[in-house]
Amino acid sequence: MSMRNILVAASLATAAAASVQAQTTVPNGPYGDNDSIASLRTYEQLMAALKSSTHTSRGAMSYGVLPWKSNGGREIPYVVVGNGPTAALIVAQQHGDEMETSDSAVNLARTLANSSAASTAIRNALTVVIVPRVNVDGFDGRKADGTLITDAQGRVPPWRQNYDLTFSAPGRVPAFYQRGRGYDINRYHAFRPLCPLDNPNYPDITVGVTSCETLGVDSTQPYTLADLAKGNPVPEAKNVRWLADKYKPAVTLDLHHQGTRVNDGNMVTASTLWPTADETAQRLLAVDPDAVTRFKQGQSMAKRVVVVIAQTLARYPYADLSLYPGGTEPGISRNAYGLLGSGSVLLELRGGIGTKSGGYIQKIGYHAAQAVLHELARDASLSGFDPNQAEVLVLPANGRGPTPGQGESEPIADGSVSNGDADDAEGHHFGN
Ligand SMILES: [Zn+2]
Repeated sequence: MSMRNILVAASLATAAAASVQAQTTVPNGPYGDNDSIASLRTYEQLMAALKSSTHTSRGAMSYGVLPWKSNGGREIPYVVVGNGPTAALIVAQQHGDEMETSDSAVNLARTLANSSAASTAIRNALTVVIVPRVNVDGFDGRKADGTLITDAQGRVPPWRQNYDLTFSAPGRVPAFYQRGRGYDINRYHAFRPLCPLDNPNYPDITVGVTSCETLGVDSTQPYTLADLAKGNPVPEAKNVRWLADKYKPAVTLDLHHQGTRVNDGNMVTASTLWPTADETAQRLLAVDPDAVTRFKQGQSMAKRVVVVIAQTLARYPYADLSLYPGGTEPGISRNAYGLLGSGSVLLELRGGIGTKSGGYIQKIGYHAAQAVLHELARDASLSGFDPNQAEVLVLPANGRGPTPGQGESEPIADGSVSNGDADDAEGHHFGN
């Protein structure tokens, strides 16, 4: 049974109890053991932690909310640390059931705001923008009465997708959407510079990449498949793109976590990958003469970042870094922000959620991100790190390289597919 299925089973088992209890604890776990739950913050705890850290930072950190609320009606917070000329964007927990990454991001923000010489140097050189929980509904979304949201089948979060029940009935659904639940946020990042509200999967992700939808879709109101032609229906993805446009990050780090691989209880592995949307960049030349040049710059920078991560994690015996077998879908944030010219890197952390490995997972994310920022503050071009070393230092686990990325399920037409994603078929997209 995968971690997801364990969580779903646990969620189902406790759903009845949860619905009658005042829900004052973290969403219905369990997460392996109780000791690790304290740091898995509820939405309210996350907001309070960020505001508290901002308050005690004496101006080193600022707190903001993103332009689009979640469909559950929640504000999505971010923090900015430092005011240097080079920006770095760190996003975590696009997938609601990948909770550990959020803690890494919060702890990193706190450290960057402290009075140490290292943090001060980073703040002077960099503007670090952190979204610790992109998918606030998919972790512990709640209805107005305080009970957890449910999908069309009665399941409760945490789950992978955002929360959008628009397409619950039989029939076609949007690409990368789970019927009666919501979208995979990490397939909906718009990748054309002049088209921030673009639907990256309309009309499809092969020949259709040059389309530019400009209106977006208000997913808090009723809408139909036909509206997918207007633009992006995923508020969380639009938020991250908004930050990318505002800050123009030299580096974008996207933190994920998958709980299905743990070796003898404490060995935790990490995977990383740079942008691989080379084909999309080529196709964009028809409408964007700089597309390939921009993408190659982003990809090269991303490989430098990967070298930093590899050299850093080599110092930790519990971290075993491999190349992530991710696909070429352009709406994946790793690819989308790479197409926009950022050094855009996926860091996928793997291990169980018990105290020991859970702590390691948080530390890997924290140390890797911290090292990248430290080096970026010293040299905004990371010129001391050879991008060609990325493929030398980081090898595919089991010899399996990045996937060709044919989409990951069904053919997309007019932004929709006949069946859509499902929990029991999620092995094909790993945790990316
Ligand atoms: Zn993920």
